[in-house]
Amino acid sequence: MEDGKPVWAPHPTDGFQLGMIVDIGADALTIEPLSQRGKTFLAPMSQVFPAEDDVNKHVDDNCSLMYLNEATLLNNVRVRYNKDHIYTYVANILIAVNPYYDIPKLYGPEAIKSYQGKSLGTLPPHVYAIADKAYRDMKVLKMSQSIIVSGESGAGKTENTKFVLSGQDIDERIVEANPLLEAFGNAKTVRNNNSSRFGKFVEIHFNDKNAVVGGFVSHYLLEKSRICMQSNDERNYHIFYRLCAGASEDIKKKLHLDSPDSFRYLNRGCTRYFASKDSDKQIMQNRKSPEVTSRSVPDVRGHEEDRVVAGVLHLGNIDFEETGSSSGGCVLKNQSGQTLEYCADLLGLDQDDLRVSLTTRVMLTTAGGAKGTVIKVPLKVEQANNARDALAKAVYSRLFDHVVKRVNQCFPFETSSNFIGVLDIAGFEYFEHNSFEQFCINYCNEKLQQFFNERILKEEQELYQREGLGVNEVHYVDNQDCIDLVEAKLVGVLDILDEENRLPQPSDQHFALAVHSKHKDHFRLTVPRKSKLTIHRNLRDDEGFIIRHFAGAVCYETKNNDALHMSLESLVCESKDKFVRELFENSNTTKDSKQKAGKLSFISVGNKFKTQLNLLLEKLRSTGSSFIRCVKPNLKMVSHQFEGALILSQLQCSGMVSVLDLMQGGFPSRAPFHELYNMYKQYMPDKLTRLNPRLFCKALFKALGLNDNDFKFGLTRVFFRPGKFAEFDQIMKSD
Ligand code: ATP
Ligand code: MG
Repeated sequence: MEDGKPVWAPHPTDGFQLGMIVDIGADALTIEPLSQRGKTFLAPMSQVFPAEDDVNKHVDDNCSLMYLNEATLLNNVRVRYNKDHIYTYVANILIAVNPYYDIPKLYGPEAIKSYQGKSLGTLPPHVYAIADKAYRDMKVLKMSQSIIVSGESGAGKTENTKFVLSGQDIDERIVEANPLLEAFGNAKTVRNNNSSRFGKFVEIHFNDKNAVVGGFVSHYLLEKSRICMQSNDERNYHIFYRLCAGASEDIKKKLHLDSPDSFRYLNRGCTRYFASKDSDKQIMQNRKSPEVTSRSVPDVRGHEEDRVVAGVLHLGNIDFEETGSSSGGCVLKNQSGQTLEYCADLLGLDQDDLRVSLTTRVMLTTAGGAKGTVIKVPLKVEQANNARDALAKAVYSRLFDHVVKRVNQCFPFETSSNFIGVLDIAGFEYFEHNSFEQFCINYCNEKLQQFFNERILKEEQELYQREGLGVNEVHYVDNQDCIDLVEAKLVGVLDILDEENRLPQPSDQHFALAVHSKHKDHFRLTVPRKSKLTIHRNLRDDEGFIIRHFAGAVCYETKNNDALHMSLESLVCESKDKFVRELFENSNTTKDSKQKAGKLSFISVGNKFKTQLNLLLEKLRSTGSSFIRCVKPNLKMVSHQFEGALILSQLQCSGMVSVLDLMQGGFPSRAPFHELYNMYKQYMPDKLTRLNPRLFCKALFKALGLNDNDFKFGLTRVFFRPGKFAEFDQIMKSD
């Protein structure tokens, strides 16, 4: 940093502010903000960054700035956002800020067309450019491609995914499957009125002539807790309200539907319908058809789904009370009789069986050598409530699996040569209470971050090597240790959890203690009570654990009530209703697990996800990849409001800042010889233009007297130090 030049120093809400260094201490700098002359504050050395000469200037590719750091990135993104340029490149990575309003002419067939066949960087940054690059790379390299869209809730992942898909010349059906998936898998949350509560990987498949032959959607981690409980101001999945609001009178009667206020699974959250007046309007507009009828895929099975959705709602209204007898069990409350009947009827179950299965648990005794005696243990009210909710979650999540399957049946294909896959999955998250659901999401983000590092950093180094640049290797923080902590055989958290569930009496406390005892001094793991790492409830070490993720520390509670008792599971597996029965086909209730009656069937939710995730990563690793980092500009979900500090933390979490560090030490701008030749030959005398492009560039640089340290000649292109290409371009154009 040079004397007398402003620097970027930390600011609590804006992220950074301009200031002057007035004193230099051992590890802190004294800064005088430009906006408040005469006032000073201290800032850690590591958080003060050099600023560009002109802070109002913005560039398409952040790498063409002179100083590559988090402050100049934030400033560039800010200046661009204020001009409605929501997309910015950092080399090949696309940053997309959610504008929260429709920017005129930004999207649509015309825009798509203008990006077709253009190399990245020739036109302003755009999601269409990334989509087109994937398509071209697939064609030229004959290799499948994937686009990884990430960001926190409300950052615009799903919208950008839709733009990527509409940028392809694809079958309408693939786009139209969205409303159906969103009806069952999206909900209003405080962060996003149309929040995807599941992850998806959408593959568009092409034949050897690069024409679309079909598509396939894989889904991950539907949020199950939402089915039974929502926070204040949040809703359950859209389909519940749509059904209550939009079903015909006839259907409403058949399904015994009423207003959302009359159902426990809806009335503890927000029961408002989407009104066309407020901010929900946009969602309505994005959807092609109104509530309920939004199913544009052939609706042969819609009624069956509706029936199961209604069944879940009625199930939720079943209430229990203590029997008062010495056995300590519970019975259904009187008024739940009708509800039980509705529920049993809609799900094809026998009323009495359902009642018994909800209020008792089958256990296998091994006591006294009498191996394998089945006994029925009465449940307490709280346990029965949990059993009911576990059933609701199991039924609804099976229904969601079915919806995805149904979508997939709409665009089948036999063979394909290559695919373009788009991954839209929740970013790293932490709340006041973090459960197994957050644990899985964050584990997934660790894996994706590792993939990102591998791709971006490895690719960069490979390019330097290929071009014979002889640049020193760059190092980056590897998060393999954190991934191992979760998925390692036997000692990983997932295997410890499975181990716990194989015990005769699994317990949340024992599980938490087992995690701690297996990893006493693990850098990534801490005991909640003692830790100052993060804000969390004052948990005991037998109630949870803290994992230090790449994006921050998160405290997980080990409480888990999702266990579906075997008796309930077999009940639905043997439903009289074919549709319900089929939902539970291939469930855990195989012969083998039936023998272990009384065991909990959530055993392998975690390990199943691990397998799924590893398959996904294997797939990603076999493709060419692009990354889109979505950014949420403010918490109010409004347009034209840039909350710097909030955005900065997202850029840090997404790994963008480490990419800048790498680039700052390397050669972030590069241009093929022939491109430079074509770009500048008009300014050069004939004698020079007769040279081949490589020699032309050499001669040109010599003539301009460029500093040798500012660039390097590779085999096919010139590499520039940060900001030097822009400088060179300036000289050329002003001469
Ligand atoms: P979640 O993780 O909760 O699913 P998300 O990242 O998928 O969040 P989106 O649903 O894509 O977020 O975006 C949230 C809302 O922001 C959209 O419903 C839309 O109103 C608005 N939005 C996002 N991107 C754009 C855009 N490019 N132009 C206009 N509005 C946008
Ligand atoms: Mg989404």
